[in-house]
Amino acid sequence: MRSITAFDLQYAHRFYGFKGEAQYLHGHTGVLTIEVEDTVNEGVNMVFPCNEIQKTAWAVLKNFDHALILREDDPLLPAVLDVYEKQGIRNGHPQNQMKGEAFKTELATAYPDCRLVVTKETMTVEGMIKIVYDLLKDKLNIAKLTFTSGVNAASAEYETSGGIDRCPLCGIALDEQGVCPKCGYKKK
Ligand SMILES: [Zn+2]
Ligand SMILES: [Zn+2]
Repeated sequence: MRSITAFDLQYAHRFYGFKGEAQYLHGHTGVLTIEVEDTVNEGVNMVFPCNEIQKTAWAVLKNFDHALILREDDPLLPAVLDVYEKQGIRNGHPQNQMKGEAFKTELATAYPDCRLVVTKETMTVEGMIKIVYDLLKDKLNIAKLTFTSGVNAASAEYETSGGIDRCPLCGIALDEQGVCPKCGYKKK
């Protein structure tokens, strides 16, 4: 069975070099849906608590919310950074508080201090799914990701390995020692 959680992400981007109106900077509210698959954990009668999926995923996804997402070769990138630098907001601002954990993968690098994500490929809905799977595949048993943004939508399904030991009292994943990081339950 699956536990399903959705997130709203508001972001600005453009398709650099694309022949169409998407080559101009514009914004979206995108919806990312994460489906986590496993057996129903008998102790709590859930696959995985959705608030825990939220917590784990949002730590990373926060980087995309109210953020600018540009491809690494987009000439807007140095131009925007130059303006942020001159304004003194490139390396953060007291009112920039809802920041995610910075990350760097093959596909994308997040700069939470200036609410920017730089991507290797154009940030289409398909591109977003590739980036998100790469960021979360080791943390969640992801069976499917769906991303919709405006009239565009994409989804991808994945083989899940299953077998993540979960706490029978609160449902979250046990650590390597078989201990629940939330309630301290220890696997016998
Ligand atoms: Zn767009
Ligand atoms: Zn627990």
